[in-house]
Amino acid sequence: MESPHITSVKNTEVYKNCTNIVIGKGNPNADILFVGEAPGRNEDLQGIPFVGAAGKNLDKMLENVGLSLEDIYIANILKCRPPENRDPTIEEIKAHTPWLLKQIEEIKPKVVCSLGNYATKFFLSGCDPDKMKDQPGITQVHGKVKNMEVQGQKIKLIPLFHPAAIIYKRDLLPQWNADMEIVKKEISQKTLFQD
Ligand code: URA
Repeated sequence: MESPHITSVKNTEVYKNCTNIVIGKGNPNADILFVGEAPGRNEDLQGIPFVGAAGKNLDKMLENVGLSLEDIYIANILKCRPPENRDPTIEEIKAHTPWLLKQIEEIKPKVVCSLGNYATKFFLSGCDPDKMKDQPGITQVHGKVKNMEVQGQKIKLIPLFHPAAIIYKRDLLPQWNADMEIVKKEISQKTLFQD
């Protein structure tokens, strides 16, 4: 029988309109999980997250701090591309995030880097999509480490600007670099790796 988190995604309109479900990429045993918003056109066609322009930018920015796909796992809030890359709806977020929470249960990341407003607000709301609208935006909270519990697991949330935003707002790059120094510092702390 199909798992409920998969059925829930398949019951949404974005699933009916997409080419591929985009689950994730990287190391499923990584200590760091990056969470984006939703697949774009290239991701939909290939079934892999962050392979388009935003993904190329993310690869470069990760390489700058010595991180590769062996060190991280990358997934999205929505598993299917919304038509014309429109914003995800709250109903879609409700239907798709049980899958993300399942991934967190399995991967057991110590650090979660939320990319942009949607992923950040999802975690800050305590993973309650109805409360996302009350959360501060990424401009206010980027680089601020927050200890929280997700699926009974202690994680450090580090909100980051979305790599797509940095393509058209180059002045965000120094802030991204400063935030990545914070990520590096957090992941190098020994206590993080003790159970
Ligand atoms: N933007 C996202 O948020 N996720 C992707 O997979 C690609 C672009």
